[in-house]
Amino acid sequence: MKNIVLFGAPGVGKGTHALLLAEKYDLDHFSTGEMLRQEVADGTPLGLRVKSLMDRGDLVGDDVVIGLIDKAITSTDKGIIFDGFPRTVQQAQALDFLLKRHQRRLDCVISIDAPREELVRRIHERAAVSNRSDDSDEATIRHRLEEYEEKTRPVVDYYKVSGLLVSIDGSGQINQTSMRLCKVVDQIIH
Ligand code: AMP
Repeated sequence: MKNIVLFGAPGVGKGTHALLLAEKYDLDHFSTGEMLRQEVADGTPLGLRVKSLMDRGDLVGDDVVIGLIDKAITSTDKGIIFDGFPRTVQQAQALDFLLKRHQRRLDCVISIDAPREELVRRIHERAAVSNRSDDSDEATIRHRLEEYEEKTRPVVDYYKVSGLLVSIDGSGQINQTSMRLCKVVDQIIH
């Protein structure tokens, strides 16, 4: 039962690759972004609370996403691929705690790396086909990337220290990145 974090900046393709890996290796895919968008779409009290934060490109509160992930981990006996979580050091610490409580541990954190201009290009490309409001506004895109630099990048150091971090080049085509990812996951799984 392997537990993997897929890490990277907005637009790098975490969602796409997490889905591919979940299917190939029979893992449950937990995306906090998707969970939050579902809460907004359903008009739940939580959704109403987080909508404006997401529209601005702010991170939502740690307690909110940690609560969602706690519920998700409790719901499965399969291995898990985490997508878009953790995004702060506090979330990373909470994940360690939650996994331990469920007699699990983190096996690997894979960071997908790509240059900033490529991230912006991909977010614009996605905006044309998705109806994500945070993909179509320039100021929001810029702010999401700033939030990443300020709050999420320190998570890389957190996992470097624990020896769990593997970085791969995600600047090329989807299939190239996918092959690199599978090479890493194959080593963990076998
Ligand atoms: P994503 O789909 O992962 O790009 O997330 C979309 C938006 O959801 C982000 O810009 C944040 O507003 C919010 N979000 C998703 N995951 C998290 C998280 N782990 N911590 C805080 N906010 C999050």
